[in-house]
Amino acid sequence: MKETLVLVVEDEVKIRETLAQFLEKQGYLVEKAANGKEAIEKNSTKKPDLILLDLMLPEINGLEVCKEIRKNSYVPIIMVTAKGEEIDKLIGLELGADDYITKPFSLREVEARIKAVLRRTKVNQGQNETEEVLRFKYLEIKTQTREVIVKGNLIDLTPSEYAILLTLARSPGRPFSRLQLLNATWGESYAGYERAIDTHISNLRKKIEEDPHEPVFIQTVYGIGYKFGVNQ
Ligand code: CA
Repeated sequence: MKETLVLVVEDEVKIRETLAQFLEKQGYLVEKAANGKEAIEKNSTKKPDLILLDLMLPEINGLEVCKEIRKNSYVPIIMVTAKGEEIDKLIGLELGADDYITKPFSLREVEARIKAVLRRTKVNQGQNETEEVLRFKYLEIKTQTREVIVKGNLIDLTPSEYAILLTLARSPGRPFSRLQLLNATWGESYAGYERAIDTHISNLRKKIEEDPHEPVFIQTVYGIGYKFGVNQ
């Protein structure tokens, strides 16, 4: 099996080295970046399988780094935030981060989050899946290649957005609660994080709906959550 390369982005030397040493001990390959510029460069040159991205970085902060990387990369990103940065968490989700770890964290928690995100990404990549193509009006989802096509144009979705869309589209008409969608994306539940789903849904609608305010595909089910509104 190919080894997993994790890019650790952290300006504080002690935390960066602790994380790097721990991950290496767990069998990961590790690249390190001490600032945002280096993080963007190393993402292009080293092509990591996952990025642990500290929010508070000098010069270019974690949110800007996330935004920049998302312009041309689907790499799973886990943001590392300090306590009380709730607003930044939501902004981070809008910019395409896949998960969060709040400082102070335990190394075991870091490992668990990394595994959960990688598991989800691998499932999404569908390495052993048979080809499945879902078609709804002008929307097409190819599960083997993870391609989402709207009116003939390939759309960029983050791993979380893709997981939510696929979950909904595989069961048209079935309402899903936020918690169910959260389970589908993160593989486990995080109490209090359900609202994060709303942010993903909002981003998804902007990407796949003709009019995000009058969504055809992803519809709100009041008091419950969301459903896919179009039959195949
Ligand atoms: Ca920092």
